[in-house]
Amino acid sequence: MNDPKQPPFPPETLRALSDDFARRSPRELLRWGFDTFGDDMVLGTGFGPSGIVLTHLVATLKPDATIFYLDTDLLFPETYALRDRLEERLGVTFTRVTTELSLDEQARRHGPELWRRDPDRCCFLRKVLPLRRFLEGRRAWVTGLRRDQSTARAGVPLLAWEPAYGVVKLNPLAHWTSEDVWSYLQLHDLPYNPLHDRGYPSLGCLPCTAPVPEGADERAGRWAGFDKTECGIHVPSHQAA
Ligand code: SF4
Repeated sequence: MNDPKQPPFPPETLRALSDDFARRSPRELLRWGFDTFGDDMVLGTGFGPSGIVLTHLVATLKPDATIFYLDTDLLFPETYALRDRLEERLGVTFTRVTTELSLDEQARRHGPELWRRDPDRCCFLRKVLPLRRFLEGRRAWVTGLRRDQSTARAGVPLLAWEPAYGVVKLNPLAHWTSEDVWSYLQLHDLPYNPLHDRGYPSLGCLPCTAPVPEGADERAGRWAGFDKTECGIHVPSHQAA
């Protein structure tokens, strides 16, 4: 087995693969990923529309694959309910990845409602660190990133080495549009978060997600009032992309 902290392919090979898979279906990239990395490839989802598409694809390709979500203990009740519906509907079991730092302990150490004062620190504690630990020893991470989600994501490749976690990152829907995703959900009659019909195109933690006006970036309601558009788990690959 390759050293999980070393790129398994030279950068030019990954770039060529990324260009090639941009002309093929997300299913083909996922199949290549499972053939290449086996059980060491994991899908992460926040139960957004893209994540539901990928969960559906993975459930048909490799039903025993690891599909995880980052549980900050601050997700919307509707998100937890959707998780349960998807498990029932698709026959998958989501792996909960979380911090050992309880909300009470976080408040004791960093003050109450850290997300109101220092959301970068809060995201680092509740998302980045648990993800870093979870991806140790894995070789590939599948995400639902899409180029049309925000200007910050406009350069997302389909495949890239992610040095911050020592894994190959696969973004099979990078070149899909929001319309592509919603058409897929409709075609397969898949459940989705009812809050998307109430002005929340992108959902994260409850205290940091607001509804967005029509026509705004899909992620404009995340950390409204702060100069922050990403939680930090994806930033390194964007900047490298
Ligand atoms: S999205 Fe908000 S509440 Fe959730 S981890 Fe980040 S700062 Fe904390």
